[in-house]
Amino acid sequence: MAQATRYQYVTKECLFCDSTDPAGHPVLYQKNFKDEDLNAEVFSARRTADHFHYEMVKCQKTGLIFSRNILDDNSLNKLYKESVVTFGEQTEFIKRDYWKPISEFVKKWSKKKALDIGCSNGFFLEVLKDNGYDEVYGVEPGEEPKAIARADVKDNIHTGFYGAGLYPENYFDLVCCFQTLDHLSDPLGMLQNMYKNVKPGGNAYLIMHNTKALQAKIFGEKSPIIDVEHIYLFNKENLPQLCQKAGFKVVSVFDVKNGYPFSYWIRMSPLPLKKMWVGIFKALGLYNKVLAINAGNMGIILEK
Ligand SMILES: [Zn+2]
Repeated sequence: MAQATRYQYVTKECLFCDSTDPAGHPVLYQKNFKDEDLNAEVFSARRTADHFHYEMVKCQKTGLIFSRNILDDNSLNKLYKESVVTFGEQTEFIKRDYWKPISEFVKKWSKKKALDIGCSNGFFLEVLKDNGYDEVYGVEPGEEPKAIARADVKDNIHTGFYGAGLYPENYFDLVCCFQTLDHLSDPLGMLQNMYKNVKPGGNAYLIMHNTKALQAKIFGEKSPIIDVEHIYLFNKENLPQLCQKAGFKVVSVFDVKNGYPFSYWIRMSPLPLKKMWVGIFKALGLYNKVLAINAGNMGIILEK
């Protein structure tokens, strides 16, 4: 007897052009998993990489890379609700890395209300609060991250999905969204909702993977960005185009550096003789020094 299909699939189209002509959107990578391979853990950020991915195609005009036949929203939402997204000991470094690109801009911005979409345990809400924002709000599908959020940001974290009508229009001075846009089945719809929620003259700030980053080029199909979690993947040229489609003005597009101490890089590296390296870096006084590298992320700052 044939096994019942566990998931429903839907077909995605190019965000920029008519993708019914397959020549304009050839297959880049073949699908490499079966339904029974999927579970919430596969949809939890920073898990050990298993590299499942859908069939992925590439737009020949814009370089947009996208998953062709994806799970329907019901299935995706269920998997994300059960997934856990926290960053553990890396949180302090990520907080600093994500704040740095806007630290000069915010001096000229009003700092009344801010929102972080896909806020995990509210780590960036803490940053915003600590840097003078009066009211900070977050949206996160999973329940677990909220449970461990800092007391002064916890109450304003909404457990669920971001969408139209969740917050008033023209409400926020700043809307942030980190490592989320490329997970969405309708990124333009998300940007349009963000545009509505931002006040005129207010800003949006996003960080996500860059398909033209060196790692993505070197590792190809083995790159962590070629993953079942990612539906649409952008570069520094097509991302601004999509943001403009949603109504935003583009203020700045840039690479985001990730800085961790040498102690962290050594521990995470596949190097043999780790104890020896620890000794060497300690002797050189570098063990706790921070090394910042471009790990393949880009950021964009927008204005309404
Ligand atoms: Zn296209």
